[in-house]
Amino acid sequence: MIQSNENYAKMPGSYLFATVAAKVRAHRESNPALPVISLGIGDVTSPLVPAVTSALHAAVEEMGQADSFRGYGPEQGYAFLREAIARHDYRSRGVNVDADDIFISDGSKCDVGNIQELFSLSCRVAVTDPVYPVYVDSNAMAGRAGDWIDGRWSRLTYLPCTAENGFVPDFPTEAPDVIYLCYPNNPTGTVLSRDALAAWVDYARAHRALIVYDAAYEAYIHNPDVPHSIFEIPGAEEVAVECRSFSNTAGFTGLRCAFTVIPGTVRIAGPNGKDVSLREMWRRRQSTKYNGCPYIVQRAAEAIYTPEGAAQIRGCISGYMDNAARIREGVSRLGLECWGGVDAPYIWVRTPGGMGSWEFFALLLSQASLVCTPGEGFGPCGAGYVRFTAFGTPEQTAQALERLGSLSL
Ligand code: PLP
Repeated sequence: MIQSNENYAKMPGSYLFATVAAKVRAHRESNPALPVISLGIGDVTSPLVPAVTSALHAAVEEMGQADSFRGYGPEQGYAFLREAIARHDYRSRGVNVDADDIFISDGSKCDVGNIQELFSLSCRVAVTDPVYPVYVDSNAMAGRAGDWIDGRWSRLTYLPCTAENGFVPDFPTEAPDVIYLCYPNNPTGTVLSRDALAAWVDYARAHRALIVYDAAYEAYIHNPDVPHSIFEIPGAEEVAVECRSFSNTAGFTGLRCAFTVIPGTVRIAGPNGKDVSLREMWRRRQSTKYNGCPYIVQRAAEAIYTPEGAAQIRGCISGYMDNAARIREGVSRLGLECWGGVDAPYIWVRTPGGMGSWEFFALLLSQASLVCTPGEGFGPCGAGYVRFTAFGTPEQTAQALERLGSLSL
């Protein structure tokens, strides 16, 4: 008899954004007069830039001609894109990443969710709290997180990130085997300085742990003291993998393209006391379960590395960061404390008067038809905070701030 994976039965409720969407739907139905403005889910609003759409059109034409048609591509991604990434995202910053260490995919969500398949079920996993939920849920579904008890997983190590510690996680008392770090951070919008990241790399080296570094928002960094890649830190090439996405960098949330870097120098303990190459394990996994991101999409991603493409996406990013500055200013004017929004498109806001984060979410929705994301949905330490995204249009952002300003908080 077919039996289900029992770990799924332990999963709490539905995915955070599905819960938020259901509440927003119910509000819309009962309040059709005032249109909802969402600064909740972090989806981009700027259309694809012209360099990207031109590359897409050209690639579609190629696919329609017998002499340039392409069928299955390399599972790891086309060399033209891997070379462009290695050159522009890494070597231009003095970081030695080889194109052979880069794996193209159709999203970072799947990469950060799938990578745990390569780790033993006995591994202890540490996540920052609050956290992008995919790291937690993918480990829980695999059976590595223990049981869901009173809002926490019994076998996960939570690394609190709150205003009290400046959103910099402290080292846990017991060393984990896998550590998920996401910087610039979703949801808090905060960053790690070079020294703080170097301390985590040293920690991972000392404990033979692996850091899964999610740099999905790297393109939003502008402070020169904030590293763009974990591989800027000496020694990280032995203990880290890095995931990046074109979703937020270039508006690819609907088009789908991302990549993961696994240096050939990352080796983890294998059976019989022998080390194994994590890169070769991932290659084996991808070539078995994945057939590659579409050719036309990889050509579109390549276009952001041309001078025109790079300038165009910089324009979109600076538009979002203008929104972020306005949100920071607007919420501060209301007397609310906030963080992030300087090197990241998210603003993390402390709820007024010690209100719960779902309570504040409900207040904004009912009084202003305004959607934010309740911090508690990202982990226990998100209680008492909400997240605003800067990915709205300038008009939506201005309207949202106007509505916020009209509330007496
Ligand atoms: N990692 C983080 C931290 C994210 O916030 C997101 C989503 O925006 C992703 C990964 C997923 O990116 P993708 O659209 O490439 O799946």
